[in-house]
Amino acid sequence: MAPPMSASAFLRVLKAEGLTVVEVGDWRDHNRNHKGPWGPVHGVMIHHTVTKGSARTVEICRKGYAGLPGPLCHGVITKDGRVHLVGYGRANHAGLGDDEVLRAVIAEKRLPKDNEQNTDGNRHFYGFECENLGDGEDPWPAAQLEAIERAAAAVCRHHGWNERSVIGHKEWQPGKVDPRGFTMSSMRNRIRDRLK
Ligand SMILES: [Zn+2]
Repeated sequence: MAPPMSASAFLRVLKAEGLTVVEVGDWRDHNRNHKGPWGPVHGVMIHHTVTKGSARTVEICRKGYAGLPGPLCHGVITKDGRVHLVGYGRANHAGLGDDEVLRAVIAEKRLPKDNEQNTDGNRHFYGFECENLGDGEDPWPAAQLEAIERAAAAVCRHHGWNERSVIGHKEWQPGKVDPRGFTMSSMRNRIRDRLK
């Protein structure tokens, strides 16, 4: 159980982890806080965007689309490994997920299968959207995977969490398939090693 870090701290820890960070528009104050709570925070969620083109991807994640207003995450990780900050606070990325998964994340235990949609994830997770078509064929460049590792580790390091506080959207909400193209267990191993 932890209150969310400030926007300034978020920017600072990402840079301290060696990331190239791009601040987009009024990201510090762009959020969905008027729609519901933000915090306490318990973990980090990784997504793929199903989009092509970095500029367009960042714009969609900042603005959202009809039926799902932005921001759609906090940071967008493009294929070049840069992290674009598009929002801070409650964001439309996690949706409703499984309360047993949330309990496992809080306890940093092995994840159960997600089979319920009964818990507000936008309240409890930092979110990173990663530029990828999500078709299992679109490549994940090494720079992008390293940025995912660093961004998640930065948040974990700040809060004193371990790699089990990092989950994929598909581990949270039944029916979701993201991220696709690498395994979350391999990414958690990388985060664990980085946090040593
Ligand atoms: Zn997702």
